[in-house]
Amino acid sequence: MLDLLIRGGTLYDGSGAAPRVVDVGVAEGRVREVGDLSEAPARETIEAAGKWVLPGFVDVHTHYDLCLAWPGLSAHCLRQGITTVIGGNCGLGDPDTAAALAAAERARLGVHFAVLAPLGPLRSTVVPRGEGRPASPTEYPALQAAVAAALDAGAVGVSWGPYHANALMDPAELGAALSVAAERGKPWCVHRRKEGVGSLAATEEALTLARDAGVGLQISHLKAAGRLSWGGFEPVLECIDAARRDQEIAVDVYPYDASLTYLSAVIPEALKADGGLAERLKTAEGRAAARVGVEGWFSERMGPEWIVVLEPALREVPRGSTLAEAAERLGIDPVEAALRLIAAERETTGGWAIYREMMDPAQVEAALDLPYAAVASDAVPEENGQAISAHPRAFATFARALRRAAAGGEARLADAVRKATAFPAERFGLVRGRIEDGAVADLLVISPDFEEGATYREPTAYPRGIELVVVAGEVALREGEPTPARAGIVLRR
Ligand SMILES: [Zn+2]
Ligand SMILES: [Zn+2]
Repeated sequence: MLDLLIRGGTLYDGSGAAPRVVDVGVAEGRVREVGDLSEAPARETIEAAGKWVLPGFVDVHTHYDLCLAWPGLSAHCLRQGITTVIGGNCGLGDPDTAAALAAAERARLGVHFAVLAPLGPLRSTVVPRGEGRPASPTEYPALQAAVAAALDAGAVGVSWGPYHANALMDPAELGAALSVAAERGKPWCVHRRKEGVGSLAATEEALTLARDAGVGLQISHLKAAGRLSWGGFEPVLECIDAARRDQEIAVDVYPYDASLTYLSAVIPEALKADGGLAERLKTAEGRAAARVGVEGWFSERMGPEWIVVLEPALREVPRGSTLAEAAERLGIDPVEAALRLIAAERETTGGWAIYREMMDPAQVEAALDLPYAAVASDAVPEENGQAISAHPRAFATFARALRRAAAGGEARLADAVRKATAFPAERFGLVRGRIEDGAVADLLVISPDFEEGATYREPTAYPRGIELVVVAGEVALREGEPTPARAGIVLRR
């Protein structure tokens, strides 16, 4: 007896193969059979004729580890058809992987959850961040032991980004840490040191470090950030293509031309990596240096009218103001407004901000079309961990990628499904993202005229038309509404 029979849907199985009209039978949490099941008895039958049946989406680039206590997290994922997530990207997160995974277990999520070990926070357990220096070789063994402990607790890879103490790690120190991941066959996810001007050198640095350490590389949110760097996108792709001949390399991409990061991104790393930004902003000299940095950002990337402040720490500035509007409200110039908003925020990050038109839309398309690109959201929660930041990428990345591919026909859609399911799962050694005999039954039934939902104007709207989501054989969302099922598990590797 099947627990669930999904009858007559058009199956995209995650492999990239052409779709076929078949029945899918589920029992005891797994796909029992794919084929003609018209005679099979089942406890529940879903008529899926004319609908698409897909594996649940596997979102390998998220920051959901930062909001595990938010009760809305499961529904947030399920409404988008996401059934597996990986947190701990960009070198952000808890250095205690065992604790992070235990927190996920306590949260009893409705989706599967895995985590990366963030290198910056890990190395801060060995070298005090306030010392503002790279680790010395005598400290490498302790750093390597910390990385090993995190990976052996079940982290599915390591991550790095230019935030916080990560930026203090020099190539030798990074190499020492990465060798530990290489030994365990786990990948390195890197938010490159530079994604705008200087991104070619930063890409080469990541490729070289990964090659020398023998570690698989996942380049996070591939992009050329800021108009001045758009001309540098092709050379970056060429350099990745060349390295792919003898290195294991993939990228992840979200399908939007606006980015989202801390407002403090406008300030150079050198002024904040050691955690001393708050103190520096209190001195005339530090403020002057910060001013020069912010002016540089405005000319290199974009002006203050394109930066949307999502979590302003000053009461006078409403959420969703541009930095230009914030300046007007405060009666000061935009550089000063940025510095004040950053200084007023507890961690001097300034909270999250959207950077409009950061990417060339044609390059976003090109990145999505790379055969080695995974679709991933890079969703981040708000600082209080009780909501998701209002960028449409956190609400509609997968629907948007699917909608875009579907317009190009079946083969493109099959490939887009692969890039959102089996391909990213395999990169991290997760046995997820396929619909085949014996696979864990994470699957979706979607109406082909589903709607994407979120837009820049309405960034927190969910897609419409995702009718059924099954996680580990249990119906987790029915007719678009989450059920009380909590069948997600913590994935350790
Ligand atoms: Zn990042
Ligand atoms: Zn990220």
